[in-house]
Amino acid sequence: MKAAVIGAGWAGLAASVALREAGAKVTVFEAGHTPGGRARRVYHGDFDAPLDNGQHLLSGAYKQTLALMRRVGRNPDALLMRRPLKLASLDGRFNLSAPRLPAPLHMAVAILRARGLSWADRLAALRLMRGLKAMSWTPPRDWTVLHLLHYHAQSDALIRQVWDPLCLAALNTPIATASAALFARVLRDALAGSREDSDLLLPCTDLSALWPDAAARQVTMRYGSTVRQLHPSDDGIDINQERFDAAVLAVPPTFAARLLEAPLREAGATGLLDALKAFDYLPIATLNVRLAEPWRLPEPMMMLREDAARGHAGQWLFDRAQLAGDTKAGELAVVASAANGIGERNRRQAIEAMIDQVAEQAASHPQRLPPMPEVSAAELFIEKRATFAAVPGLHRPLNSTPWPTLALAGDWTDTGYPGVLEGAVRSGLQAARVLNPRAN
Ligand SMILES: Cc1cc2nc3c(=O)[nH]c(=O)nc-3n(C[C@H](O)[C@H](O)[C@H](O)COP(=O)(O)OP(=O)(O)OC[C@H]3O[C@@H](n4cnc5c(N)ncnc54)[C@H](O)[C@@H]3O)c2cc1C
Repeated sequence: MKAAVIGAGWAGLAASVALREAGAKVTVFEAGHTPGGRARRVYHGDFDAPLDNGQHLLSGAYKQTLALMRRVGRNPDALLMRRPLKLASLDGRFNLSAPRLPAPLHMAVAILRARGLSWADRLAALRLMRGLKAMSWTPPRDWTVLHLLHYHAQSDALIRQVWDPLCLAALNTPIATASAALFARVLRDALAGSREDSDLLLPCTDLSALWPDAAARQVTMRYGSTVRQLHPSDDGIDINQERFDAAVLAVPPTFAARLLEAPLREAGATGLLDALKAFDYLPIATLNVRLAEPWRLPEPMMMLREDAARGHAGQWLFDRAQLAGDTKAGELAVVASAANGIGERNRRQAIEAMIDQVAEQAASHPQRLPPMPEVSAAELFIEKRATFAAVPGLHRPLNSTPWPTLALAGDWTDTGYPGVLEGAVRSGLQAARVLNPRAN
């Protein structure tokens, strides 16, 4: 089979691996110049090692992603730092850490021992877990996360301290509009599986080097090659006037809608076209900071206290030097999800406010962290369309299309997950199976 994959994000590359393993000759069209899509390496002159377009976090529940890394010869144990779930705030006021006990006991003990939560809030958090389990982890489709939290009587303090930042991290959507069903899915993966599923996996290398580079080496890559024409039929597919037996379209839904507008209308599949057009998107901002001297944080990933009025927009802080094993200079990444406010601000001001946020919260840590060294370089990346807005009742397309020669892939397809890496990988593998049932 002569197969094409359009888009070298994690979804498209997962499809290319599965199709190639099933015997297809695979060509990947990628508009950009780096494999990885929204999770890729970016070079920057002020930083010694490559950066990422945005700091990412994986979890132990990302089973297909971890298996795929091994399939292309990459060792997740060496490339990802695995840590038991721990949420510790930089200012030292909050700490929740899962002990090495069997699931779900590890989480119950973590909640009961959490520092910075009242006893009433700890019991309320446990009640929510039990309530979700009683609902088989499937709250009504039209509920928002806020609805779910109020239904289970979670206090404002508990919401602000725990659920709000977790929801933003997992769904990139604020609790007032986020889908309770998708949030419950993420919690189920982390809490109702084995203890290892709730582990945090932190990349020790750039995102393209994790596995997209290796996958790209196994197929024919056409970088800088934007697909502008797509004509699917029952016995083949024309891509930019070149004939293929089959293709996976693994681009964001707005681009898919543009490419497929005419063919879908001709096929009378306007429902799919409407679904492709119905997604809204939310931004994520990542501030990369290089420090003049080493500065080791107590944890490689820490929570930040958000204060939008002061421009303290970060929710999470990553010690990238610790992750990379770099002892020469400190390097941090500050992440702000659903960062609608940041683009509108003066860029310089936004950077300064987030640096101030880190320095201030570190200074109030009870164990007295050394003061944050001078900043030698700072670069703010804003991904305007980082993920789709994970709102209730979204109609997410399946991987199949009206044509047997074309499958869809992307984190936005009907994966059951919010817009995350594991969803992208699963969708790519599923799209390959649609085209060739022998692909796995
Ligand atoms: C800043 C940021 C932080 C994130 N943090 C996390 C996290 O911590 N954990 C997590 O699990 N997920 C996270 N995500 C989400 C995760 O990155 C995405 O879910 C995933 O990368 C989506 O992969 P994809 O293959 O579906 O889409 P994409 O990565 O968007 O891939 C689509 C590819 O298609 C290409 N393309 C588009 N149009 C064309 C065309 N016409 N012709 C050829 N090529 C085309 C694009 O260049 C792109 O490479 C984050 C995302 C961002 C942006």
